[in-house]
Amino acid sequence: MRRTLCPVAFTALLVSGCLFAQTPAQHADRIFVNGNIWTEAEAQPRAQALAVSGDKIIAVGSDQEIKALAAPDTAIVNLEGHLVVPGFQDSHLHFPGRSVNEVDLHGIETLKDFQQRLSDFARAHPSLPWITGHGWGYSAFPNQTVDKKYIDEVISDRPVYVLERDGHMGFGNSKAVQIAGITSATPDPPNGHIMKGRNGEPTGEFKEAAQQLIFRKIPPRTLEDEYESLLQHMDEAAAAGLTSVQDAFTNMKSFPVFERAAAANVLKLRFHFAPGILPVEGDGAPPKHKLAKPLTDADLAPYRKLRETFQGPLLTLIAVKGVLDGTVDARTAAMFEPYVGGGTGIPFWEQDDLNKTVALYDKEGFQVMLHAIGDKAINMALNAFEYAAKTNGTSGRRHRVEHGEVPLLSDLPRFKQLGVIASTQAMFANPDATVLENFAPLLGPERASHADSFKIYDDAGAVQAFGSDWGVFPFEPLPAIYCAVTRMTPEGAPPGGWYPAGRISVEAALRHFTRDGAYATFDEKERGTLTAGKLADFVVLSKDILSIPPAEILNTKVLLTVMGGKDTYRDNNFP
Ligand SMILES: [Zn+2]
Repeated sequence: MRRTLCPVAFTALLVSGCLFAQTPAQHADRIFVNGNIWTEAEAQPRAQALAVSGDKIIAVGSDQEIKALAAPDTAIVNLEGHLVVPGFQDSHLHFPGRSVNEVDLHGIETLKDFQQRLSDFARAHPSLPWITGHGWGYSAFPNQTVDKKYIDEVISDRPVYVLERDGHMGFGNSKAVQIAGITSATPDPPNGHIMKGRNGEPTGEFKEAAQQLIFRKIPPRTLEDEYESLLQHMDEAAAAGLTSVQDAFTNMKSFPVFERAAAANVLKLRFHFAPGILPVEGDGAPPKHKLAKPLTDADLAPYRKLRETFQGPLLTLIAVKGVLDGTVDARTAAMFEPYVGGGTGIPFWEQDDLNKTVALYDKEGFQVMLHAIGDKAINMALNAFEYAAKTNGTSGRRHRVEHGEVPLLSDLPRFKQLGVIASTQAMFANPDATVLENFAPLLGPERASHADSFKIYDDAGAVQAFGSDWGVFPFEPLPAIYCAVTRMTPEGAPPGGWYPAGRISVEAALRHFTRDGAYATFDEKERGTLTAGKLADFVVLSKDILSIPPAEILNTKVLLTVMGGKDTYRDNNFP
């Protein structure tokens, strides 16, 4: 009898008795044979075949062992010798992702490219009241500087505002600046900058919290738009081999979009949510420097409610997210020593406020994710986690530093000591023009030499969970693995890699995208490795990335993605 496992906690099945009625451990719905299975499990690192029942793996072994489990109605999938790995987890991204009604500016290299893409989009979307988009980098603009005139030259009749690829800053045209009522007399808001030219006039560029001045004028995105975007981006993610994702700043208003997809049974990914910690000012904006009043247990009621609502296995909420600083590229990442050219960035919190806030969530059992890029911010995050554990007498919370790009070397051992996860992004080490011409020069050679080095976290014994920070960067894990392994651009530059001491092995990179990701969401007993009893989340790849030259990883395709026993993506060439 074919069966589908009820999508509720396994213990509930035991209680209701439906476990026995449906005998999930016995009947193989599908068996996958003739494969090259990399299980990630120490006891049995390699296998040829596995059997799936409902949403679970029921056996992993040799072709002979697994074929013996086949019932008359069991479907047999021939893997044709291909590599199978656990489903990829992206431990830091942002769903539902870019609106399908925004201009994508990733990959622009010149001002001409930028203007062309903007004007093409404007022509194709004549009824949009605002033109918004994101993905540009400073290196495309003369003197690495953006200005409203570059947009005015192509669009002046409608307001335009486009975000830099990190999302921490953006710039608009004169119309947008005018609608927002920004003039030479407008002061900087707390934690933000309105960029002004030599004549004191706003240039159209806004950094950090100053972006709110523009955002509040842009018509809010509809839930319908979010739902459309969710469906489209889930398809793309499944095609990239992703089966689980950690949303790293869930908008409180977006939950109905995910619930709608769950009710319609169209989820192709497992989602872990992390709404912003209090005080939340706007969507994803940094909190105020100083707490207006100390938080209390009562303030956490909405978070507890969400945690009760989202208990898995597809929608789960155990974490919250805070933001301690900005980015290196905008010189807003908080550093102990000045950037080359001056400034030490903006820490968004004072240590004492941060300690108390983190401790409150820690006490309530939440995992706290803190965006911290500069060494000062990373240090503050670790201090807060240490404070919380001491004050509450808690352990095993698996709090996380998000990005952790430029740590103090002396802080590295604290990750393991405190059980803090390094949630890093492999593609941040891609040595493109922005990294080589803006990021690295701002840090200077000493700090740049260990920036976005995944090796230093591995050497320090930290659990390192890889993510993409998509919508900002692409979420495809295979190019990210290539980058972590080579520290070269897809074109192979610079030869030997950018600070090659930071390179890691393919095995390590894969582990950060699978087993370590599952650990980071407390799911290591459920998934992240391919063993009997685990969820049937796995990916079939066109090449054995563990044995081919690294450059070939870029030519490797995802052939099949299975999440919870169901195919969420299947390449046309896969039987
Ligand atoms: Zn992010």
